[in-house]
Parts: sequence; structure tokens; C-alpha cells
Amino acid sequence: MEQFGAIEIGGTKTLVAVGSTWDDLSPPHRIATTDPDETLGAVVAYLAEHDLTAVGVCSFGPLDLDPMSTRFGTMQFTPKRGWSNTPVRDLLQTALGMPVVIDTDVNGAALGEGRWGATQRMTNFAYVTVGTGVGAGIVVDGKTITHPRHPEMGHVAVRRLSDDPHPGSCPYHGDCLEGLAAGPALESRFGVPESWAGNDQVLRLVNGYLAQGLLDLIYIAGPERIVVGGGVTRLPGFHDDLRHRLGAMMAGYPQMPDLDLLVSPPGLGTLSGLAGGLVLAATGLR
Ligand code: ZN
Repeated sequence: MEQFGAIEIGGTKTLVAVGSTWDDLSPPHRIATTDPDETLGAVVAYLAEHDLTAVGVCSFGPLDLDPMSTRFGTMQFTPKRGWSNTPVRDLLQTALGMPVVIDTDVNGAALGEGRWGATQRMTNFAYVTVGTGVGAGIVVDGKTITHPRHPEMGHVAVRRLSDDPHPGSCPYHGDCLEGLAAGPALESRFGVPESWAGNDQVLRLVNGYLAQGLLDLIYIAGPERIVVGGGVTRLPGFHDDLRHRLGAMMAGYPQMPDLDLLVSPPGLGTLSGLAGGLVLAATGLR
């Protein structure tokens, strides 16, 4: 059976694993995300020890994913130091000498959930992450949206909660969804994440904003299910609280299926992205 490499490049850590399918995916090998040479060099060194036929990589962005672009698979301008203009796909493909298929981190997670997780047998769905940032991967008719641009849902505008004076931490917009609800904005209000459990104000705040983002997503794209994952979503009671706030905002319009079905935690835990890497890698052989 063909063995694939799966890579998930995050802003702080990069995960690598090998396998032919979800059932035999190896435990993730963790590499700190530093500069591109060091990080991708460590990824290549790890994968070179395995007999692989293709590799799938899902990465933080923004990425150029326009198949007509000469810079396909290249990191666009990013505040992450050293990564702007890095030709991630080409560097990996040259170093590994095999097909490398690339998509965004959240698109990858959506594909993984669609194949083996919470959105199996669905063709229109989304994966939303809330962690260091906020982002959404959107699948329409079984395909991720990648070009001419991939979605940047973390930066949608939200209505500020009336008792929230935080200026927002987005370097571009200040108080967009990500600027108000992602990890850094929560830490500046509530301190280190280890102290958040049991603090109702954290949930009230993050979900007060996140529900607005999901409302936009539902009304614009009409997904069958939205999987909501990422570090912040592992707070106790997170998904129930989110459903409650979302239901109140939707106010019965339109008539929707059970919110328990519409909003789901990941079926694959923290490994949705690596599962997506396997899905992407398999497409490299077609
Ligand atoms: Zn923003």
C-alpha cells in the first residue's frame, strides 16, 4: 500500500506523520516552527527516512493557491518572520523528489474531517479554528475554496460586545473577529490559558464574537455542518455555549436543523490537519 507523508505547518509548531490512511497514521512528530530553512529542513529530514510516494502539506497562510499563478504554493506576506515569499510547495517538492500537494491549514483540516471525521459523506461543510488565530476552511461540492483566493474568515467584521473595551490584536484591522477572539486577545484580557477553565467570562467573550462569525458563514455559504476546533475550543462547555449563542442570534431564521448537528467538535481531535495531509497527498497521484 502506498505510504504518504502528511505535514501541518502552524505558526508555532509543525507536525509531520506518515501513513497510507487514517487507521495507520503514525504518531505526529513535532518540530518547532522557526525560520523556513530550519523548519522545512527538519521536515524533509524526517520524511526522507520513509519510503513515500507523495506528500500533502497544509499550512498557515496566506498562501498563493491559484493554479494559474507562477507563485503557486508560495507564502504571501505574513507577519511570521522569515516566511513571506517562501515557496513552500516548491521547496518541499524539490527536496523530496515527489509530488507535494498544498492547501491551507484549515482547508486541510476540513478535508480530513470530511474523509474520516465529523463531516463524512457531506459535500458542503466548513472547519473553523480558534487558537492563535481564527480561520475557516470551506468545502463546496467536495472541494476546498482555494482560488483566486482562499477564505480569510478570521478577519470578518464583528459587532463589538458593549462591555468590551479591548482594542483588538489584529495588526491589520484591530478589532476584527480574530483581533477580538483569538488566543492573543484572550490572553491580554484573562492571562495565560491555563487559568481560563471555569472563568465564564472567557466563554462569553470568545463565543460572543465567534457566533457572529459562524452566523455570517451560515448565511453566506449555507454549510451542512461546521466543525469548530483549535486550542481555545477545548475549554469545558465550549461547543454547547457556542450553539446557545448562535441559536439566539439566528432567532429562528431560517428554520435550521438541530444546532447539535450544525455545530460539531472535530471528530479527529487535534489531528484533523494531518488527516487532511493524507487526503491531499493521495490527490497528488491522480
Ligand atoms: Zn484582522
